[in-house]
Amino acid sequence: MCAMSTEIIDEDFNAVPSMLLKRMARYRVTRADSCINCGLCESLCPYGVHRRVEGHVKMLPPADAKCIGPTCSSNTFYCVKACPTQSLLVSPNPVFASMGDPRWTPDMIIATWKQAETGQPLPLDHYAQHANSGGGFDRISIQIPAAKGSFRPEEISTAIDLNHRKYGPRVKIDIPVYGGGMSFGSVSKRTMLAKAIAATKWNTFTCTGEGGYPDMLIPYKDHVITQIATGLFGVREETIKRARIVEFKYAQGAKPGLGGHLLYEKNTPEVAKMREAVPYTSLFSPFPFHSVYSVEDHKKHLDWINAVNPKALLSVKVSTPNDVEMVAVGSYYAGANIVHLDGGYGGTGAAPEIAKKNIAQPIEYAIPKVHRFLEKEGIREDVTLICSGGMRTAMDIAKAICLGADGVVIGTAEMVAMGCVRCANCESGRGCPRGIATTDKELELQNEIPSQAKRLCNLYQSWQMQWKELLHRLDMKDIAELRGRTDLLRYNGTPGRML
Ligand code: SF4
Ligand code: SF4
Repeated sequence: MCAMSTEIIDEDFNAVPSMLLKRMARYRVTRADSCINCGLCESLCPYGVHRRVEGHVKMLPPADAKCIGPTCSSNTFYCVKACPTQSLLVSPNPVFASMGDPRWTPDMIIATWKQAETGQPLPLDHYAQHANSGGGFDRISIQIPAAKGSFRPEEISTAIDLNHRKYGPRVKIDIPVYGGGMSFGSVSKRTMLAKAIAATKWNTFTCTGEGGYPDMLIPYKDHVITQIATGLFGVREETIKRARIVEFKYAQGAKPGLGGHLLYEKNTPEVAKMREAVPYTSLFSPFPFHSVYSVEDHKKHLDWINAVNPKALLSVKVSTPNDVEMVAVGSYYAGANIVHLDGGYGGTGAAPEIAKKNIAQPIEYAIPKVHRFLEKEGIREDVTLICSGGMRTAMDIAKAICLGADGVVIGTAEMVAMGCVRCANCESGRGCPRGIATTDKELELQNEIPSQAKRLCNLYQSWQMQWKELLHRLDMKDIAELRGRTDLLRYNGTPGRML
């Protein structure tokens, strides 16, 4: 393992310098030139918005992020009213309001940044656990019992097994989450490396995506899944041999019926070399695998990997067609250890809205359907059911497990933790203005690998504390006890209706 990785993995986290929260606040507090620096606002505001450094005459610029906004006007300490020179103004920040979308509201983005910077959990009923999409996980809530008794987090397990079969390697991860495939080309090498470091630190996994396996990930190989997708970009025997898990990507929930695509500007010479392609040409992966038209063909695929690397677990990533439960059973009998259902709420800005919204069934329907069918077939305890596609928060992940999943794969939540503002520019031109989903050398430089890795680790820590608190309130000791507990869920669309 390289020196930098060892240092980072051994370090204590939770101390990421705030780069985003400082600049992005819900409210804007402005102090006019008429301020006489009397210091009254500093003594009044209990949230620390106003500050003057000892020995200095002038007040510091207001710390907007700490301000609770115009609702403060009912308080006796409201600085705007008290200021003797009427120099203060508190107003909504238009930049904040312009961020995100109904699935990733500005509040949810800011809350995720806060978790990434502090590692602290959100309250289980925090308003940012839900967004405004009007569907999907926003329409489901968990009945959370009141806090009780003494809470001993060290006695509660959030670990899950990724191999439920009686034979084969035992692979256990400490949290019910791993990072999804984002290829080199779709994201920067820095992003890939930060994900791999965080996966190693938290004993979980990240995935190469379909753009090949950059050498800099080799020190983290025990926590990197090799993905094989329809374009077979960068697929080599050595990358299959080094993996503990090999994932076949048959389809993506955000683009069912379509292969991946990388537009020409992001296909730099370095990316093209990895993919054995021509630089600055658009790369479209076919759909489907043209070698697989039956479950027998699928079995041959898995047998091929098994022959190359008999020690690897086999994961099969599919979208959620109407007969997804038959696909899951077929994959199990073909030899898959992990059946990975990918729903349509996820995807980067590269995923076309028309595909996301109109093809395949919603993931919250697909999970219980597959879970129950596997039970009926008597093979549920031999399959690891993983799902992905739009799980944004610790509570979304808990809901997915209640619906019947063993664990969850995340993508967008990781990007947001690293500083994504959900501008949907991932695929355009030079790519991500935040330097995350880009191969542009200048844009990439905005992000330091150690601090991006720490942000991810902090997010995982924050989530783990939330799951442990939830399990404690439910009198559970292991996250596996949550699986299939749809009785704990409520459908918010029709009041009182249970799933
Ligand atoms: S109370 Fe008004 S005048 Fe006094 S320091 Fe604050 S903003 Fe300036
Ligand atoms: S371009 Fe960057 S900031 Fe914008 S949505 Fe994509 S990853 Fe997020």
